[in-house]
Amino acid sequence: MTKLLKGKPVADALSESIRNDVQHWQEKKIQPTLTLIRAGEKADDMAYERAIIKRCDSVGVKVISEVVPENISQDDFYKVLDRHNGDAGVHGILVFRPLPKHLKEEEVQYRIAPAKDVDGFHPVNAGKLLTGDPTAFAPCTPMAVMEILKHYEVTLSGKRALVLGRSMVVGKPVALLLLAENATVTVAHSRTQDLDQVASEADILVAAIGKSEFVKTNYIKPGAIVADVGINVDEDGRLKGDVEAAAAEDKAEAYTPVPGGVGSVTTAVLAKQVLKACALQNKQ
Ligand code: NAP
Repeated sequence: MTKLLKGKPVADALSESIRNDVQHWQEKKIQPTLTLIRAGEKADDMAYERAIIKRCDSVGVKVISEVVPENISQDDFYKVLDRHNGDAGVHGILVFRPLPKHLKEEEVQYRIAPAKDVDGFHPVNAGKLLTGDPTAFAPCTPMAVMEILKHYEVTLSGKRALVLGRSMVVGKPVALLLLAENATVTVAHSRTQDLDQVASEADILVAAIGKSEFVKTNYIKPGAIVADVGINVDEDGRLKGDVEAAAAEDKAEAYTPVPGGVGSVTTAVLAKQVLKACALQNKQ
């Protein structure tokens, strides 16, 4: 029977271990702290913020919510960011993206302190990920995919992995993380030819393209493990993945559902990265 790789047990297990780590730091009079910087009132950002606060509250990570006007100037945005970069009591910073169009994301990414960049925004962290530096912060979503595969003891070494999508937030980092686990990785994108055939050779299929139920049964190798990163809202307001659930059910050995899969692990990964930042900043 096809197995569902649900996110909740993964998030619960991570939370348990984060709680212990938080206690360790609190005993040393250090309170692990995350700053969230949000420009404007975008519904998606606010929903993600609520989920982060709920998770962080449950594990004991302090959250500072910094909300700035949507029309803030780049200089004023930098002033806010610099204040948190320079605050020794703040261990992690997450900037909600995409930023309003007038703020130049390609410049802002260089302003966040790499040591506090718990969502892998700064190119220094992308470079560290590429070189295999253990102090790297990868973005939380690809890390959530890896935590799920680890939790359910999916063998990666020597397996063929196909990553569908090559964004800096999901596709590229997840490809590097799979490579670090000795998978043989192919990255596919909108120009890939014979995509269904390429995909159907993969033992591990990670779908991150943002196209509702794009991956059909002919894309999936019988017995493959499928991680569906997609979050798409259909006309009825229902959440759909990038993979057709019936196709995964039909062909895969196991797959992450949408909702209830990758998305439900992201906030726990974020809290874990805050603890990693705290440990690195306090040399432990
Ligand atoms: P993105 O920046 O839009 O990138 C999409 C990627 O998919 C691009 O590399 C694009 O190729 C490729 N692509 C698009 N259409 C394709 C097609 N028809 N065939 C093959 N490749 C195609 O998206 P993203 O930010 O990586 O997000 C991907 C999905 O993950 C979205 O559904 C998003 O909502 C979701 N997401 C989920 C979480 C979570 O917590 N679960 C977090 C972040 C994102 P090109 O490079 O050639 O254009």
